[in-house]
Amino acid sequence: VLTAAAYRESLHDGRQVQYAGRMVADVSSEPAFQPAVEWTARGYAEHYDAQPGAVGPYFQIPRSVDQLRSFEARLKGWDMATIATAQGLLMAVTAASRMRDRYPVYAERALAYFEDIGRRDIRCAMAITDAKGNRSLSPGAQPDADHYVRITQTRASGVVIRGAKMHITSAVNGHELIVMPTKRMKPGEEAWAFAGAVPVNAPGVKIVATSVAQDDPDPDRYPYSSAHAVPEAMVIFDDVFVPAERVFLGGEVEHSGTWAHSLGMWERLGNLGHLIDVAHALVGLADLIAEANGLSRFAHVREKIGNMAIYATMLTAALDAAITNADVSPEGYVSPSELFTNAGKFHAAEHFHAVIRDLHDIAGGAVLTAPSIKDLSNPDVGAYVEKYMRTMAGISGEYRMRLFHAIRDLTADAYAGWLTFTILLGGGGLHAQRAVTLKHYDMDTARRLALEVTGVTAC
Ligand SMILES: Cc1cc2nc3c(=O)[nH]c(=O)nc-3n(C[C@H](O)[C@H](O)[C@H](O)COP(=O)(O)OP(=O)(O)OC[C@H]3O[C@@H](n4cnc5c(N)ncnc54)[C@H](O)[C@@H]3O)c2cc1C
Repeated sequence: VLTAAAYRESLHDGRQVQYAGRMVADVSSEPAFQPAVEWTARGYAEHYDAQPGAVGPYFQIPRSVDQLRSFEARLKGWDMATIATAQGLLMAVTAASRMRDRYPVYAERALAYFEDIGRRDIRCAMAITDAKGNRSLSPGAQPDADHYVRITQTRASGVVIRGAKMHITSAVNGHELIVMPTKRMKPGEEAWAFAGAVPVNAPGVKIVATSVAQDDPDPDRYPYSSAHAVPEAMVIFDDVFVPAERVFLGGEVEHSGTWAHSLGMWERLGNLGHLIDVAHALVGLADLIAEANGLSRFAHVREKIGNMAIYATMLTAALDAAITNADVSPEGYVSPSELFTNAGKFHAAEHFHAVIRDLHDIAGGAVLTAPSIKDLSNPDVGAYVEKYMRTMAGISGEYRMRLFHAIRDLTADAYAGWLTFTILLGGGGLHAQRAVTLKHYDMDTARRLALEVTGVTAC
């Protein structure tokens, strides 16, 4: 298990990261990446174990419902790079299980990769989303064949890939990319049916980063994002060689969708778990700010807080159902129910904006305009700021301002935009979650019930 210092040092590996029009000389000290690097470093520090052969708790394959429940509960406490790694590796294990019958070599490689990442205690980013070009055309019909990552050469020793993956979380501050097809490929699209693992510093990998982190993240103004904003990146593969032992799919179109489905399941479980904590925190913020503003007893405010509490509770129930109704693979690997995971994630994404709207409506305009905490110590206006932000005995101006800053940071500022998009699109958008829900929904029972109430026995 690496120390935090060894992790920071490991980022000096020659990776080619561009940010805001320039090459980043040192990822570990670039201000825009600091929240993510330090969040990951805190994770390393927390899990450091000097014993030879020690393996981080995030490198586990659940083998019972209790282990899956415990994995999900601990996942929420990890940093984003570790969460992506744990989900990415479980995705690889699930995909390996689903491919084992026909392609045991790929299954063995994916499992060996799982072991190797645990032994080296490094962090992986999941790279599935292609540039995709014209969405109405399939990969093989795109005018630019590179708009989906593809194999350009096959050699005895491995393959060469070209293309780009978009919006890749933690590529900047992780170590390896688990690359996979964004969707199912058709016969004739073998070149685009590629999955494999690529180090971020492999020759030909170019990372173009973005970040919602503030240049000067003041923890008073950005109480959450100053410690949790993560960079995203366009990752370009400019004829990158991938050795055979790191190729997990090399043209077998019938299994191109296996990877996206496996990733979707684990990523959506993680999204749902994370969002439950966010949702309950938003209910708490609504209740606290209503109290601080003297609004607690008004009917429309109680109604909105009640709706928010129902939303958070339904997500909690969906996660519990996803774990309780877990699936078991022939190898004994336990994974969440796809039906409840997708229906829960869909519900979370579909209604998130309404929850934010209700919170904003209760909290009022100071969410955006509350003065800075620093203004409280300004000798000219500090006492006025405290006086006019205070509302009643027991509710100081500073306390109320801190509530507003937290609400703005989580729901109405740069990080809030990131969160809103991640909830909507993380692990694929609403359409993808609806499609998987329908695939696993018990339509036969629904149709039988419909016929029963209709009283019809034959067409
Ligand atoms: C903050 C953030 C972090 C992310 N992190 C990662 C990551 O770590 N790794 C990763 O691989 N991806 C990541 N993603 C990508 C995410 O999975 C995608 O944004 C999502 O799958 C949607 O793809 P897109 O953004 O290309 O939008 P599009 O695919 O353009 O989708 C936009 C709309 O078009 C519709 N649409 C697109 N194609 C079709 C079609 N053929 N038929 C019908 N409708 C269509 C979609 O359903 C949707 O409604 C991240 C995204 C965000 C915003």
